[in-house]
Amino acid sequence: MNFLNNIFRPSQQKHSIILCITSPRGLHLRPIASFVNETKKYSEEISLYNKDQRVDAKSINAILALTLVAGDRFELCVIGQEPQKTLYALADFFEELMQAELQKHQVAVIEPSSDSSEISKIETAVYSSQSLTGSIICEGIVLAPLYRATLKIENRSNNLDFQEALQQSIQELDKLYEKHKQSANASIYLAHKTLLEDKEIQNITTLEAFNIYIKEHIQSLQATSFDARRADYLDIQKLILAKLGQSSTLVVPDTPFILFADDLLPSEVATLSKSAVVGVVLKKSSLLSHSAILLKSFAIPSVIIRDTIVASDKSILDASLGVLISKPSSEDIDIAKDRIIQNQEIEHSADLKKFDKTINKEGKEVKVLANITNLESAKEAKAQGADGVGLLRSEFIFQTKEPTLEEQTKVYRDIFRLFDTITIRTLDVGGDKELPYIKMAKEANPFLGIRGIRLFDSHPEVLQTQIKAILRASKGKAINIMFPMVSTPKEFINAKATTLRIAQKYKLKVDNVKFGIMIEVPSVIFQIDAFNDIVDFYSIGTNDLTQYLFAIERTHPTLHADPLSDVLFDVLELLYTKSTKPISICGEIASIPQASKRLLEIGFTSLSMASAQIPLIKETIRNG
Ligand code: PEP
Ligand code: MG
Repeated sequence: MNFLNNIFRPSQQKHSIILCITSPRGLHLRPIASFVNETKKYSEEISLYNKDQRVDAKSINAILALTLVAGDRFELCVIGQEPQKTLYALADFFEELMQAELQKHQVAVIEPSSDSSEISKIETAVYSSQSLTGSIICEGIVLAPLYRATLKIENRSNNLDFQEALQQSIQELDKLYEKHKQSANASIYLAHKTLLEDKEIQNITTLEAFNIYIKEHIQSLQATSFDARRADYLDIQKLILAKLGQSSTLVVPDTPFILFADDLLPSEVATLSKSAVVGVVLKKSSLLSHSAILLKSFAIPSVIIRDTIVASDKSILDASLGVLISKPSSEDIDIAKDRIIQNQEIEHSADLKKFDKTINKEGKEVKVLANITNLESAKEAKAQGADGVGLLRSEFIFQTKEPTLEEQTKVYRDIFRLFDTITIRTLDVGGDKELPYIKMAKEANPFLGIRGIRLFDSHPEVLQTQIKAILRASKGKAINIMFPMVSTPKEFINAKATTLRIAQKYKLKVDNVKFGIMIEVPSVIFQIDAFNDIVDFYSIGTNDLTQYLFAIERTHPTLHADPLSDVLFDVLELLYTKSTKPISICGEIASIPQASKRLLEIGFTSLSMASAQIPLIKETIRNG
């Protein structure tokens, strides 16, 4: 690449900063597109450096080819007259981008493993006809003919050359972006436009060369966690081909139908949304694909089912259970109709009652708390009716630059003010979460290394500043301080002692502070009696507990531990029974309706989850 050979001119300065991919989904197409568009606003030479590769930060394709995943670091480098200002502005922009991605991730649906015994038990309990089960993209229940996607290919020769087709496609995407600016889809149009504007594509002059380029990019992404991006490349290729007169369009009926297809391109989903479609079943897609995101944003009930499907003139798609029945009995049709009415009533009622107390069928009050990451998500939690904060993931508040004591104190104080019940977790850095200003040695197995409470030993100054800020912000207000990744009582005792020492040294109040631990490490299960004597409360982090129980990394691209495994529920029951202190659940499991029911059966009365799920879970609990 040309800019690699750029000569560093003496009047120019070079500044760089290390940034970290904190979004669990890695650096994928849409954030890259936003970032690239931001870099283009600056005249300086901006580059990105990762694993001995330096790429132009103004090239979306070059960044995409780095396939940066969660936890990866890269160096952002700016060369120019006044590079520092640009560097800081871009670092801030990147931090906000990662925050936004994280929030989207937290409300994302968990993909149930297709062999999940719990899902199939529930499904057979509802319907008796033969059915296929898959992963839910967007919930909803519909009854309609099941129709196979077919394409109409047309070849009209026109006089456009490749470059003209390219520029017209860019203009079209720009118009679509402007039109949909307020919706979730806008970022996809912008991403596709940015892909086409990339220098590498702009330099292509023939359709043949463009096709080779697309093929190579798709191949380079294969078997990486970015495989789902192939649909985006195919989509921009389709757009150019259409401009050149070679169009392929989905043929769809005029009356309501459920469409099944191997996969759909994002543009096809957009077209489909204007048709009579009521449901979609995809075979090869992924929950993270843009087609899936669009289906969700258009609220089209949809699932991914890997099995072979045949067309039928009457079928049930119960996307709330992830079930497709292509030949339903008349009883099952009646059941589906009842469930449709029930769902409408539940959603309506959930919204009306989101600020009310949640009393279950046995008359017990259940606290439905929020998992939050910053002030913005704290406000969102409030708006969704959260009964408090069960988990403030403090490591996500400042992601680029090390905050000062004052900055930290201010944010914590602003968040604490919003709630009566608040649990703040001290920095849970390590594993898949890195912060650029906390230098950590490279580890072969970061999930088994320096993480969570272990930072009290490895990075005492960072933790001490955080504790001081938390105590200053609480100023006597009742708060819960929670330590993550605790594996022995000694770790807890030491962390609490450090906190008390800081309080004494700076004359800060701790009378209203309760100290607790996350239960995420299996060793805690066998030391619960010892912990009962020393902690004030527990919160079970089932995300990590599941990964350590099954030895399956939570971010693994192909292995998935079953989030509804009986083994996990046995452990949760054991913990609930043996604990003598308040105990709550803050892993993603708390927001899966089937799981929350089982948790309440065990006896849990406090669940913490992503804010978007709160109204519905509250209503599910009330209805038993
Ligand atoms: C958990 O492990 O379940 C948890 C809530 O913590 P995090 O997802 O932040 O690791
Ligand atoms: Mg955890």
